[in-house]
Amino acid sequence: MVIQPTIIGNWKMYKTAAQAVEFIRALKTMIVNNSQVWLAVPFTAIHAAVKEAAGSDIVIGAQNMNSAKEGAFTGEIAGIMLKDAGAKFVLLGHSERRQHFHETNEQIAAKVKRALLDGITPVLCVGETESQRESGYEEVLKEQILEGFKHVEKEDADKVILAYEPVWAIGTGKTATPDIAEETQKYCRSVLAEHFGKRASNSMPILYGGSVKPETMSALMKEKDINGVLVGGASLDPKTFSQIVNFT
Ligand code: PEP
Repeated sequence: MVIQPTIIGNWKMYKTAAQAVEFIRALKTMIVNNSQVWLAVPFTAIHAAVKEAAGSDIVIGAQNMNSAKEGAFTGEIAGIMLKDAGAKFVLLGHSERRQHFHETNEQIAAKVKRALLDGITPVLCVGETESQRESGYEEVLKEQILEGFKHVEKEDADKVILAYEPVWAIGTGKTATPDIAEETQKYCRSVLAEHFGKRASNSMPILYGGSVKPETMSALMKEKDINGVLVGGASLDPKTFSQIVNFT
């Protein structure tokens, strides 16, 4: 089964609404590929970004949400609010959330469940640290994947996107080599196959994230188990990001 590549830009805590509009206006004129182009923008930029992206192939999403439908959780944001603002997807379990905000696999699994209930595509991020890679990454990834998907029914499996993002490669300039990324993502797919069956796992997109740049994109995308990328730093400039999107 051929999975259409998905390329997601993660803007983290960068860009105001006006800057988001300016970026999208420029990017629209630069895309020549037919990949799925998704942008995970700050909450305050969602509405303006959705308006600017209307009529183009650019899809707007968010970077986090709460696992509750709604409630007395000061400062938090609900999936139904993201949906109301026009977000179509949400990043969940990004390593910066796990590291700085101490998010656990359990909390992330609850968010994945809520996103599906709220009709937003969850992009579940998993990845090992440098020391975990050295001591054997398989167990860590297996736990993050199985826990993250634990409330997902088999028929909903392909509504979730998995993003493998080795922590040692995020924002460090150290991209995993295509061989390492492929070997690890093949392993991730085998975990999904154990849980959901081989057929379902073969149609589930698995993205790679970690210091992706225009120069590293083509080689990564030649690998069988890499169905797209999640891009942080290199997604902040429309010209650089368009070079990633327009990979050949
Ligand atoms: C990310 O934040 O998801 C990411 C992959 O960042 P970078 O591309 O900057 O490593």
